[in-house]
Amino acid sequence: MAVHGIREDLLLTLLALGKSQHPNEFIAILREEGGIIEAFDLAPGTQVNECSASFFHDMMPLDTHVAGSAHSHPNGVLLPSDADLRFFGSVGRYHIIVGSPYTTDAWRCFFPDGSPAGLEVVP
Ligand SMILES: [Zn+2]
Repeated sequence: MAVHGIREDLLLTLLALGKSQHPNEFIAILREEGGIIEAFDLAPGTQVNECSASFFHDMMPLDTHVAGSAHSHPNGVLLPSDADLRFFGSVGRYHIIVGSPYTTDAWRCFFPDGSPAGLEVVP
């Protein structure tokens, strides 16, 4: 299923989660329903690194509704790191980064190759 949007409530929840976890990161797995990202599962572990990436790869249930991931960048840089790009390839196609100060425009979505992914915010 091609994903073309994210539910506004969910996006706001991700931003609030980033703020509440600051200065730590959070990682979540995103789920879509009918092409809209509607839900997430909070993943154990607080940092995206090679260790957590392989953890996901091993633990990820076979789920066709997994759209991708979301995690926070407490430093506010809205670009994927090298470790992020290795991680992105292991789970889904849409990868959201939310960053400090976690305002409604402090997020971006990326494809696994690091290119920007357009995502409509659906009310
Ligand atoms: Zn990152």
